[in-house]
Amino acid sequence: MIVVMKKGASPEQVDHMKAKIQSLGLKALVIVGQERTVIAAIGDDRHTHRESLESGAGVDEVVPILAPYKIASTEVKPEPTVVRVGSLTVGNGRVGVIAGPCSVESEEQIVSTARFVKAAGATGLRGGAFKPRTSPYSFQGLKEAGLKMLAAARQETGLAVVTEVLAAEDLDLVCEYADVLQVGARNMQNYRLLEAVGGVRHPVLLKRGPSATIDELLLAAEYILNGGNENVLLCERGIRTFESHTRFTLPLASVSYLHLKTHLPVVVDPSHGTGHTALVPDMAAASVAAGADGIIVEVHPDPETARSDGYQSLNFEQFETMMDRCRRIAEAVGKEL
Ligand code: PEP
Ligand code: MN
Repeated sequence: MIVVMKKGASPEQVDHMKAKIQSLGLKALVIVGQERTVIAAIGDDRHTHRESLESGAGVDEVVPILAPYKIASTEVKPEPTVVRVGSLTVGNGRVGVIAGPCSVESEEQIVSTARFVKAAGATGLRGGAFKPRTSPYSFQGLKEAGLKMLAAARQETGLAVVTEVLAAEDLDLVCEYADVLQVGARNMQNYRLLEAVGGVRHPVLLKRGPSATIDELLLAAEYILNGGNENVLLCERGIRTFESHTRFTLPLASVSYLHLKTHLPVVVDPSHGTGHTALVPDMAAASVAAGADGIIVEVHPDPETARSDGYQSLNFEQFETMMDRCRRIAEAVGKEL
């Protein structure tokens, strides 16, 4: 439920209602808006009588939150959330560009990529050190050594590092090196991991599971928000359909739909979304045109020799061309890349 305070309600009245909500066993989230303050009462409110809150001093009205996700919903917070960490800003008219290899392979590889993508306009560096691979025989990532290489690349370029945390037990280690924690598609419904990243301050890039509905994605985000971490980036990275010409099917309507339903910024991954280098620039451009707040793109110095996802990675020249195009599209839709 949302307790809407009257215009000019006093801070004491807001505090009183907050305490009242908490005494009902619900979490109280105070959102101070330009016009008025609202308090979201989050939790199982089936047995809470609306009238008991409606009679509070300074209360204008009490309205139910209709969406199954609560804190993530625009019903609770209409203003878009902007995620800022180091060099990376996602939202508020800024399209964040996170670029880099699928996996960190060597210091030379990640540092040279970081230098190049930064010069071309990227504001974040991606690179997996812990890799979720379909086959246990595929390259699993350099783990802590890879995290150290990412830190070296950040030191060189100042780019914010986005890297995956595969399991809750790795969280402390990954937090030492990462600026943004990626929760991968395969882990979107790993609720213990979601709770764990909800308890830290690092922003989280939450990727959509290939078979997850948008409501399931938003409910996964809700776990992180409910843990107290407000900085969640949602990532559309394609879903599984009957279509086999592309690795996944990339539904760009999710961008517009998510913007209606949630204040969280939306990032698109055209690399996993298509699975083909040749299709990535078009889908990156389309994502920016559709209003995405960010894109995450795989870039490798020599995709042919990449240890993972080379077939969907751009080389430096292709990335530069893609950036020129995306920059012009961003301007055309009133944004900055
Ligand atoms: C990745 O970003 O390299 C990755 C493994 O992505 P996803 O979890 O979307 O498959
Ligand atoms: Mn990949």
